[in-house]
Parts: sequence; structure tokens; C-alpha cells
Amino acid sequence: MFTGKLRLRDVKKEASNAHTFVFEKPRAAWQAGQHFMFLKPHFPFDLKGVTRVFTVCSAPEENGFAFTTRYFGEKSSSFKRSLFSMQPGDRLWSFGPSPLYDCFRALDTARQYVFLAGGLGITPVRATLLHHAAASGALKATLLYANRDEEMIFKDELTALHSTLPALGITYITSPEHINAAAIAKAAQAYSAPVFIASGSRRFVGGMVGILRNELGVQKKDIIADMFRAIPFSGAGL
Ligand SMILES: Cc1cc2nc3c(=O)[nH]c(=O)nc-3n(C[C@H](O)[C@H](O)[C@H](O)COP(=O)(O)OP(=O)(O)OC[C@H]3O[C@@H](n4cnc5c(N)ncnc54)[C@H](O)[C@@H]3O)c2cc1C
Repeated sequence: MFTGKLRLRDVKKEASNAHTFVFEKPRAAWQAGQHFMFLKPHFPFDLKGVTRVFTVCSAPEENGFAFTTRYFGEKSSSFKRSLFSMQPGDRLWSFGPSPLYDCFRALDTARQYVFLAGGLGITPVRATLLHHAAASGALKATLLYANRDEEMIFKDELTALHSTLPALGITYITSPEHINAAAIAKAAQAYSAPVFIASGSRRFVGGMVGILRNELGVQKKDIIADMFRAIPFSGAGL
């Protein structure tokens, strides 16, 4: 497990209040879909504490180590305000990959995957798709990506992956449309035994698991639920 300080290289503005913090690549080993714990000592700090869990949104093959998070200015936690005050060259403590809720994994090209991503839940999907694009390109998957509006994080980059991942299908869904049983069934119809992976807020993932289990009869073993949940003294979840 890696423990050390990451040096910030750049902060990239993404859609929908999101920003990607890109660091120099550490001597760490991790797999696409995993997350790290980050420590940012600051004072005064609020009750949500001085650590956070963020998914690594960069693929291990990329030249950098990145996570993406949203910022709401003065409404934000003390951690986020301190994080967003960082300048290139500044350092951030990091530990990982974290074994806590370490469940998002779609690395087996012999399997077929249906990704159900809500908003920021796209981060482990991006890492996974970029990994497969850099590796064999042989991933068989369909992504249903839901967002409350057209401001979809990584949309252009994901759409451009069609050329390196020929067996990837992507459907973008914005409110008032939602990912429903019919859309999931359509995404899965070409596959014999897909793994369904839902990622995003607790509410979104809970909703997706409910549809999969109760409306589509998918067995528990074929579902991965990656909830960006609250962890005591480490953020409020999504
Ligand atoms: C396995 C796992 C993976 C995770 N991966 C990620 C990740 O990749 N990226 C990530 O960001 N988080 C991720 N999280 C969640 C993360 O750890 C934090 O809990 C989360 O980012 C919230 O941070 P915060 O508590 O600092 O709150 P903030 O984001 O600072 O939010 C604080 C306040 O901002 C306001 N606010 C929040 N949402 C909105 C909105 N939509 N519009 C207007 N105002 C709003 C509210 O007043 C809210 O109380 C993950 C969690 C887990 C468990």
C-alpha cells in the first residue's frame, strides 16, 4: 500500500462544478476502479474532518494520478475549501489503494459489463475505460450514464473512446429521463451473462440495485454496488 505525498501538477475544470486534480504519478500500484484516502491538514476544520476518499479517475497506464471532485464555493466543507486552495507544486498526503468499500472492478475481458453511472459516479468508469483502451481494447461493455443535465463530466472524452474500444456502447440520459428497467434490459440484451456495476451517490446506486433485483431479477452475485457513501469524519458522501 502506498503512503506518501503527491505533488500537484494541475487542476482541470470539468463540466458541472467538477475539477480534476492531476498529480505526478507516485510509485504506487493500483487497479482501475480503486480509490485512495487523502489527508489535508488545515485549520479550522469542520466536523467532516481532514480526510476524504476519492476514486482515482486516471488509468494506471496514464502519465499522472488524478481524482475528480465537485466544489460549491463557500457552501463547501472546510476540506474542499482547503483542497481548492492548492497550487501546482503543493503536496497532498495520500494512502492507498483503500481496502474500504473496494468493489469496482471490471478488468476481465472474458466478461461483459453493464455500467450504470450517476453523475460523479463516472470516475471509476473513466479509469476502467481508459485502462482497457491502453491495454487490449477488448472490453465488451455498455455504459448508461445519467446526469441531471447536459453538463456531463468527461462526455467528450468518453464519446471519443469508440475508436479504441469498438465493443463499447454508451447511452447518455438526462433528467427528466432516468435509467429504468427497460433501458437496462436493452443494454444487457446482447450479453449472455453480464456483470452490472452501479456507481454514484448512495441514492442512485440504491435505486439501480432495486431495479436490477426487483424488476429484472438479476442475482446478487452479478451486481457490484459502488456507493460514494459517507464515512465517519471523512466527508458527507454524495
Ligand atoms: C468508495 C468511495 C469513492 C468516492 N469517490 C469520490 C470521487 O471520485 N469524487 C468525489 O468527489 N467524491 C467521492 N467520494 C465521496 C467523498 O469522499 C466525499 O464524501 C464527497 O466528495 C463530499 O465531500 P464533502 O463532504 O467535503 O462535501 P462538499 O462536496 O464540500 O459538499 C458540502 C456542501 O456543498 C453543498 N452541495 C453539495 N452538493 C451540491 C449541489 N449539487 N449543488 C449545490 N450545493 C451542493 C451542500 O451544502 C453540501 O453540504 C467517494 C466516497 C466513497 C466511499
